[in-house]
Amino acid sequence: MTRRPIMAGNWKMNNLMNDSASLTLGILDGIKDLNESQMPEVIIAPTFTSLALVSRLIKDSSKIALAAQNCHWENSGAYTGEVTVGMLKDLGCKYIIIGHSERRQYFSETDEMINKKAKSILAGGLLPIICCGETLEQRESGVTDEHIASQIRAALSGLSNEEIAKSVIAYEPIWAIGTGKTCDSAEANRVIAMIRNVVKEISDSSTADSIRILYGGSVKPATIEEQMSMSDIDGALIGGASLKADSFNEIITNSMKVAV
Ligand code: PEP
Repeated sequence: MTRRPIMAGNWKMNNLMNDSASLTLGILDGIKDLNESQMPEVIIAPTFTSLALVSRLIKDSSKIALAAQNCHWENSGAYTGEVTVGMLKDLGCKYIIIGHSERRQYFSETDEMINKKAKSILAGGLLPIICCGETLEQRESGVTDEHIASQIRAALSGLSNEEIAKSVIAYEPIWAIGTGKTCDSAEANRVIAMIRNVVKEISDSSTADSIRILYGGSVKPATIEEQMSMSDIDGALIGGASLKADSFNEIITNSMKVAV
């Protein structure tokens, strides 16, 4: 089974509309001559306030897909400040990132909420990018695998095999996010293979072979080739290095040096 790689940029809480427009145009320019059939699926996740603008800028390109960074699980109602899956679909989003460690840590998001969001996203016709990852303390105390397995089981609970197969998981060790410390590629691959095994246990082997599992945590142009050469790493979720068109484009082109 060949899984199409994904290079996804998470812009987090950065960029006014002008900045988002320049970054989007810079990415479009950097990838314009790449052969689409050899490209990874490129995804960008601007802030809510830039989604409409970025959506318009990329509408004529099939090379970039749009993602939101969060959503609510209800379809409407008295949830001041929240945004529904339908609203994000209306803006042209294909993916929604859920369960990012920053949302779990600063906004008290639980596994149960992430599961409700995953169900709502799939029911609404979009695809979740489900983040998981351990803290440094958990890694040092030897509970990485059990912690991540439990996050994955909870997030995917009640989903059909078909829904799981088209979802995306991002393994992001929290100690590697925004710190400049990347997780050793072989270790990231080991954890991702473990996640694939958990997916197999709760679904079946063809589902586990289909689901794309990304690595995230200080990915840079210089690290992506080695990461993409690993058997189970299907792409990257990129924070800091996705905020400059040059580095994001270099990550995309460097990732293509690795045969899949
Ligand atoms: C992220 O927040 O998803 C991330 C991986 O950030 P960074 O690349 O900056 O570590």
